[in-house]
Amino acid sequence: MDLETFQKQFRGRRFGELILHHRRENDLQTAIAAIHAVTEELPPPARPLVVSWIDEMNPNAQFDHFWQQDCGEAFAAITTAAAAKLRSAGVQPSADDLFNMFQIIVLNFAYPDCDFVAWNKPIAEKCPNCGGAYLVEKWLKAGPIVQCPNADCKFKRELVVAT
Ligand SMILES: [Zn+2]
Repeated sequence: MDLETFQKQFRGRRFGELILHHRRENDLQTAIAAIHAVTEELPPPARPLVVSWIDEMNPNAQFDHFWQQDCGEAFAAITTAAAAKLRSAGVQPSADDLFNMFQIIVLNFAYPDCDFVAWNKPIAEKCPNCGGAYLVEKWLKAGPIVQCPNADCKFKRELVVAT
């Protein structure tokens, strides 16, 4: 398949929904195995780049628009960055390589506490306990929660995900 065909298939839902879909479909072990399997499909010189690739994409998680954007858009942006990353290592990426680089990011965001990363997404909601200006979403194995970033405040509740 070419990239445009892939991109069309992703169009029509938000990137955040794709991530949540993956969370519902796969457990943590499956996701970790999938990241490793997808990594193995990359050309050998590209494989050592996966960890820094994930690190480079992670800061996006703090921006609302990153989650709200259409999957087709996210796919285009992430594969463009992936192409630059692979070329910097001397790999001329195929459409499948770029698709795999995208899958790695999706799986990583779906399972942030597999040893790859942890991210907190700030949400515009005052802490009802200490009055702090915002709360953060945290993704734990047990499911997403919302908690206060203030270390002295113990406020925490389950995140209700709209489906
Ligand atoms: Zn608080």
